[in-house]
Amino acid sequence: MSTSETTEFAVMDCPCGNGKILKYITTQDNPWSSAHISYGTNCGTCSRDWEISNFGTMTNRESENPYKAAYRAEQKIVSLIHAITDDLADQYFEKFADKPATVELREMQRLGIARFNIDKLRQARRQASKPSKNVYALRNPNWLADLANSAGRENEFGQLRADYEAAVSKTKEASSKVISRSIPRSYP
Ligand SMILES: [Zn+2]
Repeated sequence: MSTSETTEFAVMDCPCGNGKILKYITTQDNPWSSAHISYGTNCGTCSRDWEISNFGTMTNRESENPYKAAYRAEQKIVSLIHAITDDLADQYFEKFADKPATVELREMQRLGIARFNIDKLRQARRQASKPSKNVYALRNPNWLADLANSAGRENEFGQLRADYEAAVSKTKEASSKVISRSIPRSYP
C-alpha cells in the first residue's frame, strides 16, 4: 500500500489580509508518481469570496457572476441557432436520402460542410442519423441564410445571428470585468 505526504506552506497574504493563501504539495512514497499541487486558504472570508483553482489562480466569485450569466445567455442563443440550422440542413438534404452516399457526400463537400468520409457517412445513413448530424452546417453561413430565405425564416435567422453577435460582445465585456489574481509559486 502506498502512502502520501502533504506539505503546506503560505505563498501570499489573502486578499482581505487576515490570512494566507496556502500551497499544498502532495508526494507519493514511490518514484513514479509526480507531486500533486493544490491551493487553498486558511481565511474563512476569502474562502467564501474567492474561488481558488489548482492551476494557481484565484477568482472573485461576485465579480464572476455577471460573466457566468452572460455566458449562459450566449449558450442559450447558440442552442437556438443550432435548432434552426439543423432544421434547415435536414430539409435541404431530404432530397439526397434516396441517392447514393457518394452523391450526398459530394454535395456536403461542395458546400464546405462535410464532417465524415464516405465510410463514416454510409455508417451514419445506415443508422438513420439525421443529415444535420453529418455536417458542420455553420461553416457555411451564406448557404444557411439562403435556406432561411427560401423557408421564409430569414427574419428569425437574421435576428438570431444579431442576438448572437450581441451576446458574444456582452460575454467578452463581462469577462474583462472578472477580478482574478495569479498565485505566486512561492512567497515573494
Ligand atoms: Zn482573507
